[in-house]
Amino acid sequence: MIEIRIHGRGGQGAVIGGMLLAKAVFAEGKYVQAFPSFGVERRGAPVEAFVRIDDHIINARYQIYHPDHIIILDPTLMNSSFAFAGLKKNGTILINTKESPDHFKKHPIIKDAVELQLLLQNQYDVVLIATGAHKSSPMNITGEKLTGVISGLSFLCEQSKGKNQKIGKKVIVIGGGNTAIDAARVAKRLGSNVKILYRRTREEMPAFSHAINDAIDEGIDINFLTSPCSIIQKESMVDGLICKRTKLGNADESGRRKPEEIEGSDFELKADTIIYGTGENPEMKIIPSAMQIKDNIIVTTVGGKTSWNNIFAAGDFIKQPKTAVNALSSGKRSAIAIDCFFRKIDFDNIFPKISFESTNYVEMKAYIDYLNQEHKKTPEISVSEKREIVTFNDLNKSYFYEAKPNIQNKLSVSERLVNNPFAEIELECDKKTLAGELARCLHCGRCIDCDNCYIYCPDISIVKLDNRYEIDYTHCKGCGICVTECPRAAMELIEEPTGF
Ligand code: SF4
Ligand code: SF4
Repeated sequence: MIEIRIHGRGGQGAVIGGMLLAKAVFAEGKYVQAFPSFGVERRGAPVEAFVRIDDHIINARYQIYHPDHIIILDPTLMNSSFAFAGLKKNGTILINTKESPDHFKKHPIIKDAVELQLLLQNQYDVVLIATGAHKSSPMNITGEKLTGVISGLSFLCEQSKGKNQKIGKKVIVIGGGNTAIDAARVAKRLGSNVKILYRRTREEMPAFSHAINDAIDEGIDINFLTSPCSIIQKESMVDGLICKRTKLGNADESGRRKPEEIEGSDFELKADTIIYGTGENPEMKIIPSAMQIKDNIIVTTVGGKTSWNNIFAAGDFIKQPKTAVNALSSGKRSAIAIDCFFRKIDFDNIFPKISFESTNYVEMKAYIDYLNQEHKKTPEISVSEKREIVTFNDLNKSYFYEAKPNIQNKLSVSERLVNNPFAEIELECDKKTLAGELARCLHCGRCIDCDNCYIYCPDISIVKLDNRYEIDYTHCKGCGICVTECPRAAMELIEEPTGF
């Protein structure tokens, strides 16, 4: 079978091109398949089309992840990592361009540190490294290389590509993070009996609590305080696992209590597949050796600047929790820091003005306000020196009543596992649930025009204007009643400078 992937932008070029190619080959008596994948159908957005050609009927129903050939209709797509993803060895790349093949030898697909340095020397002023942590950490136990031992990340990756993975009936998953939980739930959906082993207790498990609950509901057994010691081999295959019971000792550098193996507590578990999700690390091959690294993490400033002046890093490559929200937040910080780099602004200096009190979270609007003020475009805008977070304790809770969460319905466990194993399990939110959840928002720190301050001020010093309130400072005596009575902590009492 020959598989071809065509990359175009917006419009229908890639799709029509794929169909024409398929028709031409069909006319020669071959079996063909031609189909598109529209992520976003707006002008300029990348579009992919796929063509399969074979001498026999084609039963494959999934996209093409490992093409024999790639056709790129728009050369600007050369800069995207997905354009070349999965190309088979000795595959052909056909590019719609007037440039010679030599021109594309420098295209920015970075495989090692030398290529990264060349990229900086030849093409770009700044590079941001944000390639994530996609290398599974080994378990460091004997038998790890046996057939039947799979890393959680590669198992999930192959599953997401629609591969029909063959795993055993008895599956052991090792680890307590989201990769381990996801891998266990996928294995369960493939029809296996699944057991998770974790060295600590549920309390220390880093996976999302709701995902752990779902896994337990789906019949996955979690053995806490259990550590894998060595894999039992039968011929070249996995046959089981020798484990030890653990107890929790003192806290380690992560702040969690360290598991300690209990002498003489060894026991054996039968398994034909072992999936390990014992941590993920970034690919360090692309990092120049002169760059400062600590524990597989690039050392950066708060803005993501590395020890190389024009290389920045974000996401799982820097020291922060490995969650999507932290990755997004560091991307935003780095975007601002890189903008500062080009404007010759000291990011570290303005960071306190655009970030929220005691966090690394920055506000884009505050940065834009700062730039506008600097350029005297909007001199009236004042950029607060200190951006504070309103916490639950800051609210005046006398004005709120307790409203229980409105729980979104889920597919029943039997529907999840039997009828449609890979269906979305969270069902659509009905209007009542959605309205109920919206009504629970406390609008912390935001004025919602409730008039409380206006009503309570004993000196009639709060003046109502069209869309806002103003304080009449000639009559305000600074009693602070308005601030106390504001339910949402949208006001703040600050001392007036005396000039003495
Ligand atoms: S501080 Fe007192 S006087 Fe001033 S606006 Fe608030 S309630 Fe009125
Ligand atoms: S500042 Fe507070 S009390 Fe005054 S109107 Fe806004 S939310 Fe209500």
